[in-house]
Amino acid sequence: MIEVTFHNNLRVMDNAVFASAMRKATVIAVAQTPSLETAQDIFRYLQLQRLHKELAMLGVPLVLRDEVEEDAASLLYDSRELTTKQGTPYKMFTPFYKACRHQKVRELIAKPAPQKAPYETEFPQLALPQWAQKLADVWSQDVREVVEGFAVEYYGLGRDFPSTNAVSRLSPYLAVGAVSPVQLYQRFGHNASFIRQLIWRDFAYYTQRYYPTLASEPLREQFAKFPYQRDVAVQRVWQRGETGYPLVDAGMRELYATGYMHNRVRMVCASFFTKHLLQPWQDGLDYFATHLVDYDEASNALNWQWVAGTGVDASPYFRVFNPTIQQKKFEADAYVAKWLPADYNVQAIVDHKAARERALRAYETIKGES
Ligand SMILES: Cc1cc2nc3c(=O)[nH]c(=O)nc-3n(C[C@H](O)[C@H](O)[C@H](O)COP(=O)(O)OP(=O)(O)OC[C@H]3O[C@@H](n4cnc5c(N)ncnc54)[C@H](O)[C@@H]3O)c2cc1C
Repeated sequence: MIEVTFHNNLRVMDNAVFASAMRKATVIAVAQTPSLETAQDIFRYLQLQRLHKELAMLGVPLVLRDEVEEDAASLLYDSRELTTKQGTPYKMFTPFYKACRHQKVRELIAKPAPQKAPYETEFPQLALPQWAQKLADVWSQDVREVVEGFAVEYYGLGRDFPSTNAVSRLSPYLAVGAVSPVQLYQRFGHNASFIRQLIWRDFAYYTQRYYPTLASEPLREQFAKFPYQRDVAVQRVWQRGETGYPLVDAGMRELYATGYMHNRVRMVCASFFTKHLLQPWQDGLDYFATHLVDYDEASNALNWQWVAGTGVDASPYFRVFNPTIQQKKFEADAYVAKWLPADYNVQAIVDHKAARERALRAYETIKGES
């Protein structure tokens, strides 16, 4: 008998460890007992319910434990051996992307044949508090429906525009492995823009492998001395979407209501937090970690460090997004109207120009340090 842990790969299709175990012996599936603390916990609970049914159809029982040893997340490419010509890890995305694209994507792994007749079992039903029930309603779709509904042909042109439905919204499913990147490649591999974003996810895992403290320490070491001005009250204003900058406030309210935020808006909200408000990026990262249904330690950390200017291939520090210009440039008025009430009228917490100058002055104090 073999126990197979399902934590980061909540699927029976294209699951190498599960398929191999099913070939060798009788399998018992093991997963972590669901908890209901973070947004992702709720999503994971929904996905475990589905997995439980799929395993039952294959005659595989699912046992819940308080602690499980996590299985490795599935990536599109095996980039573990990839290095620059000098033998050092890639720090820039584009050369990493090109190196990946020279590799072959592995074949899909078929769903195993049943080991026993299907059986009837009940998955433990948890009483969801109201906030959790709302999230569960937003994310009730099965991954197959989300894949079917995704019109990838509009992705390249539309992905930066929050008012459109051009992005896939597959990130929560990828984060718990309800679908694998290789499955998505089989379906959408002809679309280079989409595959490029999946490779950003690979790059996050690759970077975290070399820098295990990616989620806590700045990769550019001089930022350890950055004069952030941690202020819990200021952070609350940002969390509640009351900064007075409509795009930031719409994004933070979308996050609170749905556990999701469009990527363009994530960049603006994160930049506002760490540059306009001079708050440590690690605090924003923590808030996202508990509120995102698609929370992924590596992707969250890589992106926060990118926005804060502290990471590999990071945006230069002087690039301080102007939320008002971003809203215009990316035609986000409809998005803002969707998430803010009609009578929204909040005084700006900081003046953009003054906040930008303050951030640049703070940066000057560490710029020369190595
Ligand atoms: C501050 C900040 C924090 C973030 N935190 C997370 C996180 O915790 N989890 C997470 O999955 N993504 C995170 N992202 C990346 C990105 O915002 C989301 O992956 C994307 O918005 C998910 O929506 P989608 O599935 O519709 O994306 P699509 O545009 O449809 O992209 C398809 C897939 O590609 C991957 N992807 C796309 N963009 C990125 C990126 N920049 N970095 C890594 N992978 C990417 C995701 O797996 C995504 O599902 C963060 C971005 C920022 C700026």
